[in-house]
Amino acid sequence: LRRGRESALDGLDPQQRRAVLAPRGPVCILAGAGTGKTRTITRRIAHLVTTGHVRGDQVLAVTFTARAAGELRMRLAGLGVADAGTGPVQARTFHSAALRNLSYFWPRVYGEEPWQLLDGQFRAVAQAVRRVGLDPSTETIRDVLTEIGWAKSSLLTPDTYAEQAVALGRDLPAPAPEVARAFRAYEDLKVSGPVRMLDFDDLLGHMAELVEEVPAIAEEFRDRYRCFVVDEFQDVTPAQQRLLSAWLGRRDDLTVVGDVNQTIYSFAGADPDYLLGFAERHPQATVVRLESDYRSTPQVVDLANAVIGAGAGRFRSAGLTLRGMRPAGPDPVLTEYPDEDAEADAVAGAIADLVHGGLDPSEIAVLYRVNAQSERIEAALDEVGIGYRLKGGEGFFERTVIRRAMSTIDRLVDGTDEAVTEEHSSLTDPTDVVRVIRASLEPLGLTAAEPSGTQAREKWESLTALVGLVEEIATTEARPGLLPVVAGLRARAAARHAPDQRGVTLASFHAAKGLEWDAVFLLGVHEGSLPISHAIKAGPDAIEEERRLLYVGITRAREHLSVSWSRSRRAGGRATRRPSRFLDPVRPAPAPAGTRQAAESPDKGRCRGCGERLTGPMHRALGSCPDCSVEIDTGLFERLRDWRRETSERIGKPAYTVFTNDTLVQIAR
Ligand code: ATP
Ligand code: MG
Repeated sequence: LRRGRESALDGLDPQQRRAVLAPRGPVCILAGAGTGKTRTITRRIAHLVTTGHVRGDQVLAVTFTARAAGELRMRLAGLGVADAGTGPVQARTFHSAALRNLSYFWPRVYGEEPWQLLDGQFRAVAQAVRRVGLDPSTETIRDVLTEIGWAKSSLLTPDTYAEQAVALGRDLPAPAPEVARAFRAYEDLKVSGPVRMLDFDDLLGHMAELVEEVPAIAEEFRDRYRCFVVDEFQDVTPAQQRLLSAWLGRRDDLTVVGDVNQTIYSFAGADPDYLLGFAERHPQATVVRLESDYRSTPQVVDLANAVIGAGAGRFRSAGLTLRGMRPAGPDPVLTEYPDEDAEADAVAGAIADLVHGGLDPSEIAVLYRVNAQSERIEAALDEVGIGYRLKGGEGFFERTVIRRAMSTIDRLVDGTDEAVTEEHSSLTDPTDVVRVIRASLEPLGLTAAEPSGTQAREKWESLTALVGLVEEIATTEARPGLLPVVAGLRARAAARHAPDQRGVTLASFHAAKGLEWDAVFLLGVHEGSLPISHAIKAGPDAIEEERRLLYVGITRAREHLSVSWSRSRRAGGRATRRPSRFLDPVRPAPAPAGTRQAAESPDKGRCRGCGERLTGPMHRALGSCPDCSVEIDTGLFERLRDWRRETSERIGKPAYTVFTNDTLVQIAR
């Protein structure tokens, strides 16, 4: 290695080092959030290349998003192997790797026959939707597009799609057989023109097919690439796994790393069983667990462990328990508020305190389940004068559906619709005002019941949030009538600040994956929101995916973590909401009935190893500080895991361990 560059083995813990030094062949790294997964695989590649075990240009590192591939490339460049003399290591997404391969090998099989990457997939799906007589709304088209993507990722065809979609209770904009017909029409469209069109998912399938069926191509490909590495392997889909298997053939020089607890895309085809089953498929694999968390304080890590540890289902068999390696920080704050406004105001206030205390706003994030939830916190941040930006979405009043709704509402009062205005100018009762505005939004998709289909629901949620705002204005506005309420609504829209790129990040849990901040506020962690109501309807698998969403949210925080929920949607409303079931094991309320036993914890105040004063409930319960706990307590972690496993099996229900009031509590429900 050249001077000034990091060495491949610098700053690794023993487990990370084991993964880096494992001989060529199958390696499976099961790891938690913030445990250095990306660090470990980039170091492994650097180590293999710089010690001459493999040439750089024989390594193919793959991941799932362009952003993640860019991050891999950057880290490899920092280690001197993205541009090394031995030939650069390639870091790509599955799709870009397949595109590159296919462009190269296509003429070998198809000769002069032209093909083209389909751009404008939305237009093609729109055409297919119209052709089969489905409602061609943007929402339907986008949902059908999602379904086609999921079907192809899951290796389903227009013939096999509908049965699976029904069996899995997919959230569809139309009956499954009709979606299947649109899927077929779309496939036909792509091959009906003079040039064969391939979409991104076709790239994977075609490349896999070429390697599977043309021995010369398989041979050439396998000669070219000899060592494969996959980051975020819990997100691999059957279509991607098929391509990976084709690439490998009978070889097994493959390193995979992932965190099954961060599987939040199974609705898009991600299948963590490939990660969980890796060691079984490759009995000679080196299996390494990374459980030391370098990102978050021990308190944040404890909370993440408690939430995920109480989960049910097959993912728990990974049996990973995170250990916080950082010094203790403030305890996470769990707070219940009477209503959403009180919640948003308190969160904005706490953010203002942190900022005034010197924390950079860009080091703070507010996360929520659905984008419609951003409205209250946007308003509250505006009020305290803190800038913000929305990640992976637009500000509430910028969204197309809300802009349309606002112009619809304008028509009620601006005289362009005479009939409407005459009829409503005399309204004085707030309930009537809300009813009229609500009725005007029905044509935009505000149905009485929550609609099916992801896109339609998202729109419905935004419109419902807008009506909530109207209700609030109508009940607090001193002057009665439609006009003052609409004026109030316009004033709210006008008061929204322009996005501030260096401000606080507002994002959905999904959009926060892979990112980290010093302070994280999780909003709306109540039943119906997390788990979201349609997941509750869909059943246990969908609910467990919601639990993992909460885990992803919690583990984004380095220091400060706030989790909150409100009992009612608006001030004075009926307090019907319950805190999320996922918080049951960690809420300050009494633990559920069942057997409880406290583990012994000698001299709680000081570390058994070094005598240091202890902060944080978990380390006080263990009786050892973060530095010493690894050596002293590895046995304890294993004993706890065994206890949970045995007890769960014995009683047929999840059992879990939590730390409360400095005491280790083992709970079997
Ligand atoms: P995620 O699950 O969110 O993808 P990850 O497991 O990929 O996280 P990294 O991004 O590689 O984790 O590392 C998380 C943080 O911990 C980074 O800031 C990294 O530099 C740091 N880190 C990783 N390993 C160590 C170590 N051995 N010592 C100190 N810091 C470390
Ligand atoms: Mg990572």
